[in-house]
Amino acid sequence: MNFFYYDIAVGLPLRQCFTYKSKDIIKKGERVVVPFGNKSIIGIVVKKVSKPKSLKGLKEIIEITDDHIAFDKSEFKTILWASDYYHHPIGEVFFSFLPTLLRKKNDKTVKATGEIAKYELNEKDKNFKLTKEQSTNLDKLNKINRFDPSLIYGVTGSGKTEIYLQLAEKLIQKNKSVLVLVPEINLIPQLEKRFKNRFSGDIGVYHSRQTSNQRLKVWLRSKFGEIKIVIGTRSSVLIPLKDLGAIIVDEEHDQSYKQADGFKFSGRDIAIKRSQIEDIPIFLGSATPSLQTLKLVKEKKYKKYDLLRRVDGKKPPKLIPLDISESSMLGGIAAQTMDIINSVIKRGEQVLIFINRRGFAPLYECDNCGWVAKCSSCESNLVFHKSKNRLICHRCESVYRVNDSCPDCSSNEINILGTGTERVEEILKSTFKKVPIIRMDYDSTRLKGSIDAIYEEAEKSKQAILVGTQMLSKGHDFPKVTLCVILNADGGLLSPDINSVEKISQQLIQVSGRAGRNNNLAKVIIQTRYPNDENLKKIKTGDYQIVAERCLKTNKALDIPPYSNISILRAISPNPQIGIKFLDKAHKILKNKKNVDVIGPFPSIPFKVKGNTRNHLVIKSNTKTYLNRVLKFLTKEIENWPETKKVKWSYDIDPYDMS
Ligand code: ADP
Ligand code: ZN
Ligand code: ZN
Repeated sequence: MNFFYYDIAVGLPLRQCFTYKSKDIIKKGERVVVPFGNKSIIGIVVKKVSKPKSLKGLKEIIEITDDHIAFDKSEFKTILWASDYYHHPIGEVFFSFLPTLLRKKNDKTVKATGEIAKYELNEKDKNFKLTKEQSTNLDKLNKINRFDPSLIYGVTGSGKTEIYLQLAEKLIQKNKSVLVLVPEINLIPQLEKRFKNRFSGDIGVYHSRQTSNQRLKVWLRSKFGEIKIVIGTRSSVLIPLKDLGAIIVDEEHDQSYKQADGFKFSGRDIAIKRSQIEDIPIFLGSATPSLQTLKLVKEKKYKKYDLLRRVDGKKPPKLIPLDISESSMLGGIAAQTMDIINSVIKRGEQVLIFINRRGFAPLYECDNCGWVAKCSSCESNLVFHKSKNRLICHRCESVYRVNDSCPDCSSNEINILGTGTERVEEILKSTFKKVPIIRMDYDSTRLKGSIDAIYEEAEKSKQAILVGTQMLSKGHDFPKVTLCVILNADGGLLSPDINSVEKISQQLIQVSGRAGRNNNLAKVIIQTRYPNDENLKKIKTGDYQIVAERCLKTNKALDIPPYSNISILRAISPNPQIGIKFLDKAHKILKNKKNVDVIGPFPSIPFKVKGNTRNHLVIKSNTKTYLNRVLKFLTKEIENWPETKKVKWSYDIDPYDMS
């Protein structure tokens, strides 16, 4: 009997493939059913092996599942790259990009659905002339027909989305498909609407809040060329669109492109790799591009296309730092700020208040003994949510009952300190009794079912005050807003995190972009106790390029990303000593390597999660490829240590969060 041998990846956290035999010729990227332990499970064929190390005990592939290959060449190659780059178990990487229903053995196979969309242009939706900036840039962008990364740097309201629509139009004309990525599910509906107004024919949408059947259908229709436009979040980055013509990454700077746990990949970076492998154009759009992208523009690896003017010709709002060090404050709002809000409301206009903390107050403290309410599973301070009358941990979402007296000393003198969106809302409600106060944060959007209801309320109101977290700064415009207030920028400006200045300046500039489309006089007030802060001075110009230039200089001098490459080795263990010992050992092994800096171990924040302790090591190098090699070496070592069994360890490559 003649057998062929194949390495198969299975959806388990294992950094290896398993060899099976079969009488059939099977292609790379096909789904198969294989015996594993006493079960039969789905696996993906990774490669054909000519001579297995040993034939003893090799099991036979039970079944080839589909008529079509699940992962075609370019998706397949991108996955191999991702598994290698992120040092993540290959089977899990494959499964991350496979609809849930295809990860298990069932009657679902990879075949066409038979519903073919036809795209026709709705000319009525296009009844305006492009601005000069739009048309010159569009002409250039339309000429790109291979991998040549483009940054579309466009201030808010400069007509970036219109460029995306017209790029998509050209691709559809050429019978090509297009993938549009956004950083958050919340941003999908309005973009979907823009595409639907422009094109008849189904626009595919793909994200984690859909049912598994919905996702499977969009995936299959993409694969068989039944739809040509897909809008999705990072999980859609490898959706197998047939004849993919380009990838558009909107708000490319947004940190939500990075998956925070499990397989910690950046959707933006995988999109770039995919377009390189497919040799197709990639368009990265943002009003506040990432430093990483700007550095590559400087190095002439990416090209930049500027849209510096708003379509409506209006000037961007003025950013005004307001020194509050001597002010009387009411729930985080300074008295002068309140006066300005009042005058704007009197004029019948809208105000947007940005505060980066949800809930009522971030500190629930005993005045008598200093006890502070903390989460028992992760030790972070609990945030008081007045509307729910609960204390909530914002790290792990654990919910606690509110104690009226201190559990340590029984005193009734409980203090509620600091400010969150709920408190601001309450204060505004009691100050402006007749004005709608619209809160927009994680809690309120979940309560109302959708973010659209909130947008609608803002649209139909005359004067109104919107209070919200960074959610307010993303995507949606509020044309009636003529005043933005930033309550606590200092937190971001003074934070020691490596990318905090980049992040806060992006947020401030994005928030200010939401305002003032109906009014030339829009203002953004930034409350601060440090009006002379150097970064703030740059942010004040409202010109993101000036801020970014300063950040790039600083980071270069400090040799931190994007001028160096960082990865974090995390260890989770019930006993902290075991995790620290494990990381110490890793540190020792890397100590003698040239061109690598290792710092740590450090306790992570939060230190305790669900009874486990967390520690980490920071590993830094000047080149990506070298760092990759070092980590591969380290992985091999780690896998042979006896103590490895006692810790849960993982890498975070290109981390956003260093704590
Ligand atoms: P951005 O994505 O940069 O914020 P949009 O593409 O959403 O900008 O454009 C802002 C608004 O202006 C949209 O309502 C859009 O339909 C409209 N618009 C875009 N380009 C033009 C143009 N050339 N002339 C008139 N209106 C335009
Ligand atoms: Zn007490
Ligand atoms: Zn917690």
